[in-house]
Amino acid sequence: MNSILSTDICIIGAGPGGVTAAITLAQKRIPSVVLEKSVFPRDKVCGDAFSGRASEIITRLNSELIDQLRKKSIILESQGTHLFAPNMKGVRIPFRSEDHSKEKTLGFTSRRFDFDSIFASEMEKYPEIKLLEDYEAKSFTKANGKWIITACNNSNSRNNYPEITTKLIIAADGANSRFANQVAGRKTDPRHYGAGIRAYYSGMEGLDPDGFIELYFLKSLLPGYLWIFPLSDGMANTGVWTRSDLVRRKKINLERELQTALQTLPGLKERFADARMAAPPVGFTLPLGFRIKNISGPQYMLVGDAASLIDPFTGEGIGNAMVSGALAAEQAMLCTQSMDFSEASLRSYDSRIQAILGRELLLGRRLQKLTRHPQLINLIANRAQQEGIVFKTLTSMFQNLDRSERSRSTLSLLNQIRKRMRFGS
Ligand SMILES: Cc1cc2nc3c(=O)[nH]c(=O)nc-3n(C[C@H](O)[C@H](O)[C@H](O)COP(=O)(O)OP(=O)(O)OC[C@H]3O[C@@H](n4cnc5c(N)ncnc54)[C@H](O)[C@@H]3O)c2cc1C
Repeated sequence: MNSILSTDICIIGAGPGGVTAAITLAQKRIPSVVLEKSVFPRDKVCGDAFSGRASEIITRLNSELIDQLRKKSIILESQGTHLFAPNMKGVRIPFRSEDHSKEKTLGFTSRRFDFDSIFASEMEKYPEIKLLEDYEAKSFTKANGKWIITACNNSNSRNNYPEITTKLIIAADGANSRFANQVAGRKTDPRHYGAGIRAYYSGMEGLDPDGFIELYFLKSLLPGYLWIFPLSDGMANTGVWTRSDLVRRKKINLERELQTALQTLPGLKERFADARMAAPPVGFTLPLGFRIKNISGPQYMLVGDAASLIDPFTGEGIGNAMVSGALAAEQAMLCTQSMDFSEASLRSYDSRIQAILGRELLLGRRLQKLTRHPQLINLIANRAQQEGIVFKTLTSMFQNLDRSERSRSTLSLLNQIRKRMRFGS
């Protein structure tokens, strides 16, 4: 029988951001309703690379989960990154520090089809969480100090709630967030978006035995790159991304870029000669985090891609979605205690995100600008191995360091580059 469901906190979207928010709340015994338009397992177009930051949050939510996934061969731990400059000069950057006492949680790769489903099923352990799958939140109106959410009129839908009322919405509904566009007034500037495609390959040669991920900063894709991320079953997630305004202006065909690179580039063509693409490439959007703006409002907060928090240089979004999910939950907890869901009280969510991610996203933007000069990236790659300091800096940018350390290192690299440009070395 259809009825209205009423809750204090409603989370829209059960991706990494939404699930982190729901579990963080549940661990504090705070109930929430989670709406997910798909039914798990479902695909999500992604490079499938989880940073050390994502690992840390997953471990905080369930200290055994990563170990369990490793034993079931659902994840492949990544020991480092292999970066290639436009001149194809490579730099291998291991994640483990020489000093083992400073060892950080490693990143890993895992198909989102598998990981998201397992992560979402973690919510079943908490009676505080009510997950409604196959529930696409369609419209958001307000009456009597509450949001009224209505579901998409899907005839196959198994949900029994045409309406949900809630005091607070945590919108974690991804890159095309209906809530961010309809209610929070998000503007879609193509300079602040990326476009990417992903394809799974089998039978390719030379995948790194230590799970190193490969990034190729090809001139035609800058500030984006081509990636090859090995997976636990011997296949590889391979794809390309670049900024959406460049795709439009330069009429870049991402699928052709990927095929041409794999078939013609020395070092890649040999490895892909006998490779097979498992299914045609699929594309999706990356909302890049340039500046943290209006990510909360009266009775709502935006999380992850809905808040445009993807690092504009590395393209990493999963870890930031989880960080913002956890912070939104902490803020929601305070709101529930004080029964204050006003715009003013939620503003501290923006401030905390700014304090934790703001500087890093700004540096990502600066590094993105740097990629306008491919010869500079060549120079960095050429000198990285010989010059300890450049290598150390590069290492920390792609390592699982804490945020302030990462920001310091990136700043130091930018300063070194500035000096070199000034002195023409
Ligand atoms: C090509 C590509 C490659 C990428 N590679 C990487 C990578 O390797 N590493 C990395 O860290 N990041 C990568 N990213 C970014 C990463 O995928 C995202 O940043 C991350 O998934 C954001 O998590 P989220 O929880 O905010 O949103 P999502 O993961 O998109 O989850 C949103 C959820 O909300 C649901 N939903 C949407 N609308 C509604 C609605 N109206 N009602 C109910 N439910 C709804 C969706 O079904 C989905 O389950 C990549 C992105 C792209 C496009």
